[in-house]
Amino acid sequence: MAGKLTQQYIVDAYSVQSKLKELIEDIDKRHIMGVYVAYVYVIEFQKRGLPHAHMLIWLEESDKILDPAAIDRLISAEFPDPIAHANLHELVKVHMLHGPCTSARCLDEEGHCSKQFPKSLREDTLYNPSGYPLYKRRPIETPIHIGRRTVDNSWVVPYNAYLLEKYEAHINVEACSSMKSVKYLLKYIQRI
Ligand SMILES: [Zn+2]
Repeated sequence: MAGKLTQQYIVDAYSVQSKLKELIEDIDKRHIMGVYVAYVYVIEFQKRGLPHAHMLIWLEESDKILDPAAIDRLISAEFPDPIAHANLHELVKVHMLHGPCTSARCLDEEGHCSKQFPKSLREDTLYNPSGYPLYKRRPIETPIHIGRRTVDNSWVVPYNAYLLEKYEAHINVEACSSMKSVKYLLKYIQRI
């Protein structure tokens, strides 16, 4: 790995590793995403910043995510109710917002967000048999202010509520029904 390993980096990297070990137990033994057929993960080491994992899980036929209700049970791309789920609301605010899209990593050559944020608001989740779904992102009555930014559900990175509350970390969870996700992971394998 390039760069100087500081003591803090080693402590943080160790914490990432122990969280990953626990996460694998959640998937492997507790089947929190459903009964799986196989899973694979890649750990990406960046020059700056902490290592992070990209994981793919193939689910058993009976647990496959094939309709909007199944997607909504596992994945959310919205702020939860700020009173009923105050803790989760705060965690979404801290860990699961995309942007602001100012860095070169985020913007494409034409100056647009390469991850297409902000996403369109919509009332329902739409299952897409040939790729990623469109997640439910309803308008919220009171916009959320973070410093000088005002955000709504169009900026939320899809997450699983159980994982976000347990690990208090950025864990993007997506359902994918095509080989696109395999290509996504291969991209990271090839970089290493
Ligand atoms: Zn962006």
